[in-house]
Amino acid sequence: MESLLWRILGNRKPGRFRLGSFFLAGLPLLLSGTVHAEEAVPLPPLINFPVVCDTSKDCFIQHYFDYDPGPEALDHTCGILTYNGHQGIDIRVSSPQWMEKGFPVIAAAKGKVELTKDGVPDRAFSQDEIRLSRGLAPKPSNSVVINHGDGWRTHYGHMRQGSVIVKAGQEVSQGALLGLVGLSGSTSFPHLHFHLSYKGTNIDPFTGLEGKEGCEAAAEGRSYWSADANAKLGYKSGGVFKTGFSDHFPRYEELETGNVEINQYPPGTNEFYFWVNLWGIRKGDQEEFRVRLPDGDTYQKSDSIKISSVQGLRGFFYSRNIPLPTGVYHINYKLRRPGKQDTPDVIINIDDTMEILPQPSIFTRPPDE
Ligand SMILES: [Zn+2]
Repeated sequence: MESLLWRILGNRKPGRFRLGSFFLAGLPLLLSGTVHAEEAVPLPPLINFPVVCDTSKDCFIQHYFDYDPGPEALDHTCGILTYNGHQGIDIRVSSPQWMEKGFPVIAAAKGKVELTKDGVPDRAFSQDEIRLSRGLAPKPSNSVVINHGDGWRTHYGHMRQGSVIVKAGQEVSQGALLGLVGLSGSTSFPHLHFHLSYKGTNIDPFTGLEGKEGCEAAAEGRSYWSADANAKLGYKSGGVFKTGFSDHFPRYEELETGNVEINQYPPGTNEFYFWVNLWGIRKGDQEEFRVRLPDGDTYQKSDSIKISSVQGLRGFFYSRNIPLPTGVYHINYKLRRPGKQDTPDVIINIDDTMEILPQPSIFTRPPDE
């Protein structure tokens, strides 16, 4: 999970066809640690989900609090959706919709705005920058802090430049608009970093705990989310950000823009790439890639995941040393996870198509005379 890793299967000998795969593991973003509380904590207000987005479609929680006391990282369910030392919740929104439509950030509970920051540009850190920034203080991001009284605060980070519309000292009601989800500060993807705090100690709203107690302890915690928020926040262990075809192995940065995607290839194409950008993939998951060519031929490749990763890019290529048949290509990608029964559960199942266009006809209508 911590390193940039390309794995290319298959070789480039000039056989009739090649079928391979690659894998690019994601890198987590970095944020600073926090202090510890030592006293009984009064209950905070019940909080709302702080982003207006559809959690079944255009947003999800990529990172939760880290409950592993050591150098490993485990979320409150003992799953992998966190990174070492993460003390907040990262609510990721889809790209490039975060720019086009904008996802509102709203006050999780009523209170008084205590701090705001704006003016930091929205720019995705490259994977190299994320790696180099590890262990350093995070860069400032556009943010809001709301004081709810009794020592409780909520914190909203990585907001969009120019979007913060509240001012320090302003009273806000629950659900009041604060700004938009963005890409400012030390991050490589658009999201809201959110946490509760009690007298300076970050508190996980899923458990009321501060993390690092071990994920078994987290099972005994209590949720500070409202009933409405809880209804939206069932834990999802994995899913798909995006999938598509291209003419080369895409980089993460290219996926954010959507510019790599191809649905129609020109005549004479002799290779294509298909990729699936996933989150929450786990060691031992089994994947299967199948391609059906326009001439009816079918090829299949199976593999098992070797490294758990909060986000990963799985990719496949198909090529020949002569032009590929023209027409429509059907792709199916499945990811299975060993379940309680003997048969693994299919947790991801994608069908997609692309087309290789035919040569234009050489027989054209003679010019009028
Ligand atoms: Zn975060």
